[in-house]
Amino acid sequence: MLLDRNLHIRAIDTYIDPGVPRERAIITHGHADHARSGHGAVLATPDTIAIMKVRYGEDCAGRFQPLDFGVPLAIDAVTITLYPAGHILGSAQVLVEHRGQRVVVTGDYKRLADRTAQPYELVECDLLVTEATFGLPVFQHPHPLAEIGRLLKSVADQPERSHLVGCYALGKAQRVIALLRDAGWDGPIYLHGAMIRLCELYEDLGVPLGDLRPATGAAKAEMAGQIIIAPPSAIRDRWSRRFPDPVTCQASGWMSVKQRARQALVELPLVISDHCDWGELGQTINETKAGTVWVTHGREDALVYWCRMQGLAAEPLNIQGFEDDGGEGAEE
Ligand SMILES: [Zn+2]
Ligand SMILES: [Zn+2]
Repeated sequence: MLLDRNLHIRAIDTYIDPGVPRERAIITHGHADHARSGHGAVLATPDTIAIMKVRYGEDCAGRFQPLDFGVPLAIDAVTITLYPAGHILGSAQVLVEHRGQRVVVTGDYKRLADRTAQPYELVECDLLVTEATFGLPVFQHPHPLAEIGRLLKSVADQPERSHLVGCYALGKAQRVIALLRDAGWDGPIYLHGAMIRLCELYEDLGVPLGDLRPATGAAKAEMAGQIIIAPPSAIRDRWSRRFPDPVTCQASGWMSVKQRARQALVELPLVISDHCDWGELGQTINETKAGTVWVTHGREDALVYWCRMQGLAAEPLNIQGFEDDGGEGAEE
């Protein structure tokens, strides 16, 4: 087999998104459950390398080899090409070709337009290794601009309160800011300190985010009617008390699960996902024309069953090192 079940490309002794330090790694994107420090050599898109250096330090890998989207790289008898995954800035699918056999590892991906990530490209293949974070039929994501519309209505209806939006610092925060801009919110957006460096990096890499200001140090009275972006943990802790009567919001694909929103004490859940929903997963599997599908990183069983009903060979992969416990600890 060209690729084994630990996403190891044996012919070139290279792992894709390994959970432990390896001599050679291909990294699909900068989220912590895919990109780790300590590899000998990292092959990734220039944006992913820039993100890894900001998060983990300049020397978080022995060496880096940037590879632009769509440029084939021959290593011995194997050819590697990266294609946009549409998940966060720089996120890539990995095409591995060997003697006419084509294998695609999607990493995390979504199909919906998002100007903070290079748009997803469909890649036909024989074996598709797909994520299944939202791999249950119950997951049908609403349109993100409708969710942003609910946030802006709440801001307009309650001008005396601030709105505190919990977002993961890499990807979700920048996407929510871009969606707010697209929806016409051109005033300042206030940032928790944990968001600042990655927002600056996105801007440096060509994603304009408008007027961003640090939330810490702003006068409490000035924050009525304002929107603050913070990590999900911060919206519930002491830090949030500096804002006037904050409405706690959280942007995540998991916010469609009402019980989760309640448990997280979220007053205004916003269903904004950076992964495919159930319909998009099935659509993608069909469009790649893959005869074999390996399902990883989430709800494997339902999607494996669905694939088999379509006449495809399908198997779940339980890859060591992934800690996706359903979105609580994992990044999205
Ligand atoms: Zn992931
Ligand atoms: Zn991710």
